[in-house]
Amino acid sequence: MPRRICQFLLLALLSFALPATAAPLQPKPQVPGYYRIMVGDVQVTALYDGDVAIRASTFKQMPQEKVRALFAANFFDADKGAPTAVNAYLIDTGSLHILIDAGFGRCLGPTAGHQLDALRAAGYAPEDIDTVLITHLHRDHICGLTTPDGRATFPKATLWVAEEEAAYWLSPTVAATQPQRHTIFETAHAALAPYQAAGTFRTFSADKEIVPGLVAHAAHGHTPGHTAFLLTSGKDQLLIWGDIVLSSAIQFAHPETTYQLDSDPAQAAATRQTIFAAAVANGWRIAGTHLPFPGIGRMRTDGTGYAWVPVEYDLQP
Ligand SMILES: [Zn+2]
Repeated sequence: MPRRICQFLLLALLSFALPATAAPLQPKPQVPGYYRIMVGDVQVTALYDGDVAIRASTFKQMPQEKVRALFAANFFDADKGAPTAVNAYLIDTGSLHILIDAGFGRCLGPTAGHQLDALRAAGYAPEDIDTVLITHLHRDHICGLTTPDGRATFPKATLWVAEEEAAYWLSPTVAATQPQRHTIFETAHAALAPYQAAGTFRTFSADKEIVPGLVAHAAHGHTPGHTAFLLTSGKDQLLIWGDIVLSSAIQFAHPETTYQLDSDPAQAAATRQTIFAAAVANGWRIAGTHLPFPGIGRMRTDGTGYAWVPVEYDLQP
């Protein structure tokens, strides 16, 4: 063994000999989970809801040995699952406060459901939100819409969901054909109920400009009405794309890889390819609900696939 490596190993062994402390360290809490950027004249704040573990076995259209190898290369435990961020985004135009997605609420456990803490830490109250847009009606995006006693978390907001998405997850007929997914259907009913009762629930069709500068684009496949929202201010654009990518370690390089919960896996993969190509061609910044927090960055082509280029921390939003 070369002498320099021997010296390094000896140093590494010696470094274990830390002095004993009088009392065990009490770790201080993490910094608040929000991060701001400007998109033209509009401020966008990423809100961290928490994380969910996604197991290797939930990825399809790729040999399982290859999925497990990619997990290992990224230091993820294939069976316990990769820690995967759950992000939401607040768009502040100065006059409007638009929230995109509402997080896990109480539906997962202590690792998630912290979006309101992040919102408050960022200087907003739930009552400040006037518009809530939902990318799709899976539980990690909508459980936070209601309080523990079933009221609207955002009492002054109008809630918008794609018409295909609402038609699917609110249909008793569709629910009856998918008993294995009954919790998703039940959660969708419960999450939307207080807004329906208050008359503040709306649906939109694809390519609708919901507020000036914010257009809903159909990105179907992960769910029947899965939607991406393109924010434009001046020459600057940000695509908030929901669950187009569940695993940044796998699906940028291999967009053909699908996910167990995809309603239509082939359509989900085709949509991912289309959006990736459009994101690169247009130079869009991206915000992804399951990309490593804050989930904001850009994409570039890389060989036969793509690569993710995350934003650098910047004190100037
Ligand atoms: Zn999701």
